[in-house]
Amino acid sequence: MTTYEAVVFDNDGVLVELTESELLRRVARRAFEDHGIEDPPEDLVECAADGDIDGLAAVEDELDLPLADYWATREERAVRHQCEAIENGDKPLYDDVTALADLSHRMAVVSNNQHGTVEFIVEHHGLADHFEHVAGREPTLDGARRRKPETHYLDRALDELGTRDAVYVGDSPKDVEVAHRAGVDSAFLRRDHRADTALDREPTYEVETLTDLVDALAE
Ligand SMILES: [Mg+2]
Repeated sequence: MTTYEAVVFDNDGVLVELTESELLRRVARRAFEDHGIEDPPEDLVECAADGDIDGLAAVEDELDLPLADYWATREERAVRHQCEAIENGDKPLYDDVTALADLSHRMAVVSNNQHGTVEFIVEHHGLADHFEHVAGREPTLDGARRRKPETHYLDRALDELGTRDAVYVGDSPKDVEVAHRAGVDSAFLRRDHRADTALDREPTYEVETLTDLVDALAE
């Protein structure tokens, strides 16, 4: 039996469904409009939607727009539009999140989404009692640079929990990678949207549902 003191969860694709890429493109376009750019180049819209801040560096030269200013607007809109989607039921909780009630571990959330978005999700879905620590990225360029697979936010959660005896649960290769870098075990959640995803690194567990994860952690 493998026991852990703590289980740390990714948010998008694990607790709630992924944000639709069309919503993120709309966020990107509106944020350009907020800065008076009505017809932004499509490649920059794509970079902004994808959160590709290196690709977005061109806004400074091409559009004479300070990247930090644009990014702050983009992030503020991303929080607002995603919170609306959550309220409208367009970004629902996965049914199997109920399985978390059977875990007696200390739990936390570490997400690459904005902190404001993640906090809203946890509160809106009544999950706050499950988690001792909830972390998303700061809505700044530095916040974006600290995203997984950088260990910044996971390290902070583990420090907060006061243990490295933990498993990190995510639905992306970067989640397996960040767990490895932080020196904790990993569980890859292969939901339907990851059916064909190849992993560069072997996770400690691979499961298809959170119910299966809870079973695996109880074995
Ligand atoms: Mg995810």
